[in-house]
Amino acid sequence: MEARVVIDVARLDPDGETYAGTLDDAVLDLNDRFISPFAGVRYALDVRKIGRELLVRGSLEQDFSAVCSRCGEDFDFTVKIPDFVSSLEVDEKTEFVDLTDELRESIILGIPTYPVCRVDCRGICPHCRKNLNEGPCTCVAESGDERWNVLDGLRKEEGNNGVS
Ligand SMILES: [Zn+2]
Ligand SMILES: [Zn+2]
Repeated sequence: MEARVVIDVARLDPDGETYAGTLDDAVLDLNDRFISPFAGVRYALDVRKIGRELLVRGSLEQDFSAVCSRCGEDFDFTVKIPDFVSSLEVDEKTEFVDLTDELRESIILGIPTYPVCRVDCRGICPHCRKNLNEGPCTCVAESGDERWNVLDGLRKEEGNNGVS
């Protein structure tokens, strides 16, 4: 796995080049106890220089293991950025351009705020804490949305402890 993605602009083929590989996901530096990346950022980028512009287009993918924000179960999901585009200014003196931060930003923007194990995850019962994906509980139904957001609860607790 690569520590950074650096384009050798000075030696770039005038017809453009493909840069592909796996970037170490440590660069994402998420610091989130509910979401952790694994297996690296897979990237495939078409890079070309047009005048004073370095045009980069391609796709990115990153796997994550996470805790479902509704039911609290562990699950994996993949952030896919099929249409990554970036344009950077270069000149005759530019030798290298480091794309790592651009790739990092794009992946991070693709992470859902409240990841769920599946769109129709039923969450857990706020009264008996049963995982409702495994079947209904015997609590008396109340009106309104009963879904309890596990991450919301845990994040609020953290906030109260003064941890950001
Ligand atoms: Zn779930
Ligand atoms: Zn219940």
